[in-house]
Amino acid sequence: MLDLNTTNLYSVGGRLTSEQFGDREERRTDMDCEICGKKEPESIMVLPIHKSDGALITIVCEDCGEKSSAYCVKHRRIHQGFDDGTTVCIACVEELIAQERHNARHVADAVMKHLSLEEAADLREVAEMSSSVTGDPTEVSILRFVASKAKRTKTSVEMVIDIIVSSGSAECILP
Ligand SMILES: [Zn+2]
Ligand SMILES: [Zn+2]
Repeated sequence: MLDLNTTNLYSVGGRLTSEQFGDREERRTDMDCEICGKKEPESIMVLPIHKSDGALITIVCEDCGEKSSAYCVKHRRIHQGFDDGTTVCIACVEELIAQERHNARHVADAVMKHLSLEEAADLREVAEMSSSVTGDPTEVSILRFVASKAKRTKTSVEMVIDIIVSSGSAECILP
């Protein structure tokens, strides 16, 4: 049984790490910025960037955070991070879903028909769990996984579908 809750709707293909910290923290901290070394910044951001010890958490000052590739300037929010080192702005993913929503049935069908029965059942299971949280139809949940992967890899919905079709596997969007 796959685990899916509100904090990992986008996590198919990788575990979320930064959600639990919120967007930024306004408090004094005894930590220095892990990028520029600024001493005890007033305001910190917890970014989903790997540290040298492998932990997927980097604590930075606001200036470094806003310049980071793990920060969306447009939406003024920190990206979600994944184990594979990719990050994504959830608001950007939701924008892409809104643009492609009319196409969700086509996306879901294109993906499903190229999968083995077993993988199709797995994908349907996670999509149904996601839908039970979002209230979206199953095909929109599948679109959400594809759109999230597209944004994480800076490609497009079409290119993620192409990878699934050519490999005959949904591995790139499954946990
Ligand atoms: Zn800094
Ligand atoms: Zn964004």
